[in-house]
Amino acid sequence: MKSGWKAWRSRCRRRRLTTLADSRARLRLEIEGAVQGVGFRPYAFRLAEALGLAGRVRNTRRGAAVEIEGPPDILEEYVRRLWAAPPPVRVLGIHQRDLVPLGRSGFTIAATAQDGPREAPPPADLALCLDCRRELFDPTNRRYRYPFTACSHCGPRFSIVEAVPYDRERTTLRGFPLCPSCREEYEDPGDRRFHAQATGCPDCGPRAELWSSDGAALSRGEEALGAAVRAIRDGKIVAVKGLGGFHLLTDARRAESVGELRRRKAREEKPFAVMFPDRWALAGACELSEAEAGLWASPEGPIVLLRRRNGSPIAENVAPGNPELGALSPTTPLHALLLSDLKFPVVATSGNRTDEPICTDEREALGRLAGIADFFLVHNRPIVRPVEDSLARVVGGGTILIRRARGYAPGPMPLAGAGGAVLALGGHMKNTVALADGRRVVLGPHGGDLDTPQAVDAFHRAVEDLPRLHGVRPARWAADFHPDYASTRFARERSEPVLGVQHHHAHFAACLAEHSLDGPALGVVWDGSGWGEDGTVWGGEFLAGGRAAVRRFAHFRTFPLPGGESAVRDARRSALGLLFEMRGKDALENLEWFSENERRVLFRSLERGIGCPRTSSAGRMFDAVSALLGVKTISAFEGQAAMALEHVAEEDGGVYPFALQEGPSLVVDWAPLLEALLEEKRGSVSVGRISARFHNTLVDVIAAVARRAGEKRVALSGGCFQNARLLSGAAKRLSVEGFEVLFHRKVPTNDGGLSLGQAAVVLAGGGVSCV
Ligand SMILES: [Zn+2]
Ligand SMILES: [Zn+2]
Repeated sequence: MKSGWKAWRSRCRRRRLTTLADSRARLRLEIEGAVQGVGFRPYAFRLAEALGLAGRVRNTRRGAAVEIEGPPDILEEYVRRLWAAPPPVRVLGIHQRDLVPLGRSGFTIAATAQDGPREAPPPADLALCLDCRRELFDPTNRRYRYPFTACSHCGPRFSIVEAVPYDRERTTLRGFPLCPSCREEYEDPGDRRFHAQATGCPDCGPRAELWSSDGAALSRGEEALGAAVRAIRDGKIVAVKGLGGFHLLTDARRAESVGELRRRKAREEKPFAVMFPDRWALAGACELSEAEAGLWASPEGPIVLLRRRNGSPIAENVAPGNPELGALSPTTPLHALLLSDLKFPVVATSGNRTDEPICTDEREALGRLAGIADFFLVHNRPIVRPVEDSLARVVGGGTILIRRARGYAPGPMPLAGAGGAVLALGGHMKNTVALADGRRVVLGPHGGDLDTPQAVDAFHRAVEDLPRLHGVRPARWAADFHPDYASTRFARERSEPVLGVQHHHAHFAACLAEHSLDGPALGVVWDGSGWGEDGTVWGGEFLAGGRAAVRRFAHFRTFPLPGGESAVRDARRSALGLLFEMRGKDALENLEWFSENERRVLFRSLERGIGCPRTSSAGRMFDAVSALLGVKTISAFEGQAAMALEHVAEEDGGVYPFALQEGPSLVVDWAPLLEALLEEKRGSVSVGRISARFHNTLVDVIAAVARRAGEKRVALSGGCFQNARLLSGAAKRLSVEGFEVLFHRKVPTNDGGLSLGQAAVVLAGGGVSCV
């Protein structure tokens, strides 16, 4: 925000604005960004009134326009405060033109622009704001305990908008005509519900109902809420229709209820998120910094990863064996009422079966959540598109997004490029779809892994939805190289021209694009796997170049992966692959993990190289070390072994050796590292210290390769950098050594950021045609 304002001011200073100190000036300001449906016009209005300026504000095709007149220094102050508008307003740019002063007084809000706000992106859904929360619990207010209250600073948007411009008639609330009281607020420029499209009240808005598991309506309104609260208190599982889809709620303190939810949802060990009634309850269960508390209570309302406190009331099986907990605030008025009545934390997990997309429709939910939920707390406000909870953590005082959805999507980012609009299809895991129109890019919400027919259907809908919603017809599509990704297969079957973008190049470009850079830089891109340019499985890459093109500057020494993809869950296979590469058939001796028969089969396939693709994957190295140290051998969900290895690490400054070998690309040989690590494991060094030393060594590797590459900038991307110890270690070391370090904050470093990178590559003129 500040840099935007500073850049604007220096441009103005270069012109002549401030030389007219005592005369009047008039400006036309074109404001770009997420400024519609978020209370921007009332903000611009109140600001002008406060500063005694004249003029008007209105929505336009691209965002909003302000004409403003008064003394130049006050105008400058006005623009400074526009840049600093509080969330949910997001100003991306202000373009200014000087006009002849008219000498008028007063400031007005024009409700609708004549040319229609077609290009302005729809705003993101936002958590219940403090003003609405106050009203919700005020017995004298006409919206007392009304579960669907909203204003221009909070409530549903992206999940209810059917088409742009974002007006009530084009949302799912068009079936709820405003009552006279709501209409009055809606039309009053001084009211915080001025043009709040999702507004309503008990007289005119949506209502809640409680259904039995066979769909019979049991009760409505306040009674339905009361019955849902009693059911959760009794240890039952209640499906609750929220903002962007269903949640499953149950008492987070009761191990039996949590265990029952795990059993019914077929979700073995993957952590559940917990919704806390208030900050004090949260602080009782987790360690909490100011930044973390702020993120938890922010308008975006993501699940925040926090360190669990010893002796917290949360049942252990909410996040088995995990020192962290995902904490969520009550983000809608409905959830706020439930949690305020319950007064204890509840598990709040997506309403779906494992690996399926989240349910959004109550009739559909009855079928898909049959056998999981005991009751359904539903409402009659339709959801247009599924929007899940976002997932975030605080690293180095700032937010990092692990899953970008509610509160953040579709939040536009500036991304320039020629050649028309591009639709990027993302990857296979943690899929997102991105649409770039040459000036900016919008990133659709997290869509999940494309492993089930339901998930692929949801992906098809997202691909249709994004261009239609923005009124943009993409000239080109972008997809991953991997021939078997559902997203790539889908692209190939279409008639639009498709450009293929290498997986790790896309990660690298996403990081550059997030920082509004083209390159050159060194990209350190580490993840589980991606289709490499040479047809092998990449994953421990150092790429030199920029958005348009890269070369593989360095990579980890490759190793065979017995069973290929099955190693994602079975970390023992990654460990065996590394050992076999290092020691040949001696690797199989004394491996108590495998039965005699398994050993024979694995050895044969390793010896012949059948079913053992070679990989440079850094993610698989994390898995392998986790298995070798006995931390985690089999992962119940993707990345569990690597995550467990991070969690056991203690404070320790030790490092292991490694070697760099010249070649067409520099090769990082991990064999000395592994030998030293195994030697220490045989000795008396603790697993926690070995893990710390392993992490330290990887930081050493990054620094050594960066010095060799000689690029001033280093971009860190890929799923491995979800590891906070690796990320902060590498960022700190590189900064100390004088590098400019880039990493992800607004976009996930994992495959959720791929679509942004694909779009960034294609807009820069890169990519390979005809996948
Ligand atoms: Zn509000
Ligand atoms: Zn009303």
